[in-house]
Amino acid sequence: MSKFFTSFINAIKPKPMTNETIGTILKIKTMRDAISIERATLLHPKVRQDVVSCIEKAEAQFPANMAIRIVQGLRTIDEQNAIYAQGRTKPGKIVTNSRGGQSYHCYGLAVDIALLFDKDGNGSFETLSWDTKSDSDKDGKVDWMEVVDIFESAGWTWGGRFHSIPDAPHFEKHFGIHWKRLFEMYNSGNFIPGTKYIEV
Ligand SMILES: [Zn+2]
Repeated sequence: MSKFFTSFINAIKPKPMTNETIGTILKIKTMRDAISIERATLLHPKVRQDVVSCIEKAEAQFPANMAIRIVQGLRTIDEQNAIYAQGRTKPGKIVTNSRGGQSYHCYGLAVDIALLFDKDGNGSFETLSWDTKSDSDKDGKVDWMEVVDIFESAGWTWGGRFHSIPDAPHFEKHFGIHWKRLFEMYNSGNFIPGTKYIEV
């Protein structure tokens, strides 16, 4: 390919979006779990730092052998639709009844968490836990509720308080906008320029 043609192609190719270009430089100071850091950077730019701060606050209350794992953050509408197709128009078993768009995860505005432990003390976290009752660090407060308190004080809605089907690992922040409205905004292309994140 000629030099001219290559530079022409590079000029029209959209540049990958970085945290910086969408106006958020993520500050990560003490977050303990690398997988969670990766997942936090894919959340909606408006909640990324918020999630990092909540996790860092919670981890600061825990001993060094405990951390928080983001088990699920962003699940794009395309990803959700692909999962919905499984067992319907694609081979496999049905695994979900939600189509793309029907969850705040689809907009990067929700996280599902688990507690993470280094039980064998070898310096890496290997044990996930969804135990919502234990006070493993023996500080008189249930571990899970310590995390809930921090997220709720930062304005997050905790799935554990859902009336229909309580969802203890789930936290969402939707700025008062129902997912139906977010889905309309998504379908009309109301994105932060150059991204597929809705302008909320
Ligand atoms: Zn969830």
